Amino acid sequence: MTLSRRTTLRLGATTLAGLGLSAVMPRIAFTQNTMGDTYETDDGTLTVSPISHASLVLTTPSAVIYADPVGGAALYEGHPPPDLILVTHEHGDHYDPDTLSSLIGPDTRIVANPAVFDMLPEALAAQAEAIGNGESTSFGDIGIDAIPAYNTTEDRLQYHPQGRDNGYVLTIGDTRVYIAGDTEDIPEMRALENIDIAFVPMNLPYTMDEAQAASGVGAFAPAVVYPYHYRGSDLDLFEDLLGGENVETEVVRGPWYEDA
Ligand code: ZN
Ligand code: ZN
Repeated sequence: MTLSRRTTLRLGATTLAGLGLSAVMPRIAFTQNTMGDTYETDDGTLTVSPISHASLVLTTPSAVIYADPVGGAALYEGHPPPDLILVTHEHGDHYDPDTLSSLIGPDTRIVANPAVFDMLPEALAAQAEAIGNGESTSFGDIGIDAIPAYNTTEDRLQYHPQGRDNGYVLTIGDTRVYIAGDTEDIPEMRALENIDIAFVPMNLPYTMDEAQAASGVGAFAPAVVYPYHYRGSDLDLFEDLLGGENVETEVVRGPWYEDA
């Protein structure tokens, strides 16, 4: 295995001060390689594997989690099968029943927003659970909170109406991962606390522009942010604008559009 990068990440000083911890305490050490990005956490290794656009695989010490798997099972070759599948909402770049059917094993559990749950084929619904905005569930020792995901700009409201779609915060030991789904920089995002790794979209007209994304990320200051779901957006602009937010968030770019 070739390691292309190694760096040490730290939580923002404000967050650490709130916890009474030293501002220089290493929080998670990060390594990037061809299969994904590996984070050494207090609880073991967490691997982030960008698949495409809005689809990703998280491998935690206790479970393999697929978020919004679409595009066919072949995209997931080389990754262990999913123990848990999260679906944020019904759009085709997030929910594909054929891909779910080919990936799912007898013990795989699906967690979806209620609208997707209601449209699942019977065989998938039998292994699924719906949670709505503000609700929580768990998978083994992993906590799952459904965070709202919606548009706030007047000419975008039809894409993601408030109350329908989910983002998710996963609590994996001490590590908190936020998968935003399709959303603008809503108050519920801006108010998040203690997020270690965040996946945040930016593309118009469906989600938000670079400035909104930078403002939203600046407000909750995760240790690491992965821009995802950004086709057509300018990541250099996003990074420049985030740099003006005076936070210590590290931007990690993944191979989301390598086949494009
Ligand atoms: Zn959408
Ligand atoms: Zn989308």
